[in-house]
Amino acid sequence: MQVLMVASECAPFVKTGGLADVVGALPAALAPHGVTSQVLLPAYPGLFPLLPKGKEVAQFGDLPGGAARIVQVEAEGVPLLLLDAPQLFDRPGGPYIDENGKDWDDNHIRFAALSMAAARIAMGAIDGYQPDVLHAHDWQAALAPVYLRMAGRDTPRTVITIHNIAFQGRYGPQVLGQLHLKTDWFHPEGLEFHGDLNMLKGALMYADQITTVSPTYAREILTPEFGMGLDGVLRSRAGALSGLLNGIDTDVWNPSGDPSLAQTYDAKSLKGKAVNRAEISRQMWLDPDHPGPLFCVISRLTSQKGLDALLEAVPHLVSSGAQLAVLGTGQSELEQGFSQAASDYPGRVGAIIGYDEPLSHLLQAGSDAILIPSRFEPCGLTQLYGLRYGTLPVVARTGGLADTVIDANLAALAAKAATGFVFDDISGIGIANVIDRVIAAYSDQKQWQSMQRAAMRHPVGWDVSAKGYRDLYADLV
Ligand code: ADP
Repeated sequence: MQVLMVASECAPFVKTGGLADVVGALPAALAPHGVTSQVLLPAYPGLFPLLPKGKEVAQFGDLPGGAARIVQVEAEGVPLLLLDAPQLFDRPGGPYIDENGKDWDDNHIRFAALSMAAARIAMGAIDGYQPDVLHAHDWQAALAPVYLRMAGRDTPRTVITIHNIAFQGRYGPQVLGQLHLKTDWFHPEGLEFHGDLNMLKGALMYADQITTVSPTYAREILTPEFGMGLDGVLRSRAGALSGLLNGIDTDVWNPSGDPSLAQTYDAKSLKGKAVNRAEISRQMWLDPDHPGPLFCVISRLTSQKGLDALLEAVPHLVSSGAQLAVLGTGQSELEQGFSQAASDYPGRVGAIIGYDEPLSHLLQAGSDAILIPSRFEPCGLTQLYGLRYGTLPVVARTGGLADTVIDANLAALAAKAATGFVFDDISGIGIANVIDRVIAAYSDQKQWQSMQRAAMRHPVGWDVSAKGYRDLYADLV
């Protein structure tokens, strides 16, 4: 089985979020299940060094935005097809934004070009290569199944995966011509969404299967509360929609071999966590002798993540005897709020405003619990890292958080199955209440350690979901 993946990000080459991790990990996870994949990705400047090492396998004269070629290369174990179109992708800044943080004006053209290249490859543009399935990820690749259908083809079969439905690729109808989209497909049963082109909606209408990254999020996006306007479209295609949980790279996230830790440990040597906590205290100006639990946050600082509510609960967290370490960047009022909390509660609250991969590993290792009070969370990765590191996740009951953490209720504790704390009320009071539960549980160290071991046993790798994708592809073909 041959699968062509199409995405705008792929770890470790280009990453702004969980999408990159998934696209980077899936090819290797699928290989043992008889699925061979290639990832079509734009050749951003960071990938230029790979181009001379690869082989040109296709040329296109007429994509949206002009001519382009495809270079095939394998790097870091990922088989890549790079879309080399310097007029679209040879730019400073991020994959979607310029150096000032503003979206590129021609993002619709850039990612339509990616999608059309994918459709052409799916139709046989590369000599000797015919994928069985075209698997598009998020709005940036969403026109790929649309172009395939517009060309009159219903093979290969197509899948669209929604990593976050908040991002849809919505543009005014004047771009249709630029993107080589047929105007007679522009209607509410096709590409139109309230007078605009909505690229993600296009894929939801025309792809054979729709997946998202957790079973609970798959149900949630069928409702107006979570569907971001596309819930009606999704309800009309509910039979084609399913949720497959993301996994994590258990080699990179492995407390017994992680080079970013002050001391490695495993489920049998949990005391090693204390050495990591001491190192966090040193780096984040926390009181190293404080007896209560250490909570951490590793996150984009946005209202999606419920961190405005956490800020309201900080005084309660401190007065109840806990410590808090925050690592993140995002909305300026939240950055300022957590910095202010660190200066209001010296030794008890630490905040580092920035993106720091090694520190994120150390925080997972040395903290007792990780707080994730998200208002919505398609899957979430940091709770999975927390489970793997015996750092108990404290999560809102939504999306993938609800699917991966077993709340410490009496039945789960009796069965030694509890792996964290799940709560419903995302407000200052709701978070204060769950913090009280965590602190009470922490005071019984025997039970706490039993929860840590249950968390560390919980499977968080790709095994189950890779089989899920394999089965989905097999059913389609
Ligand atoms: P989202 O994709 O919505 O941001 P996820 O939980 O799916 O949320 O993935 C976030 C990823 O980014 C995780 O790997 C997390 O460890 C990482 N991350 C977030 N903020 C930071 C930060 N400030 N420093 C280091 N890593 C971070």
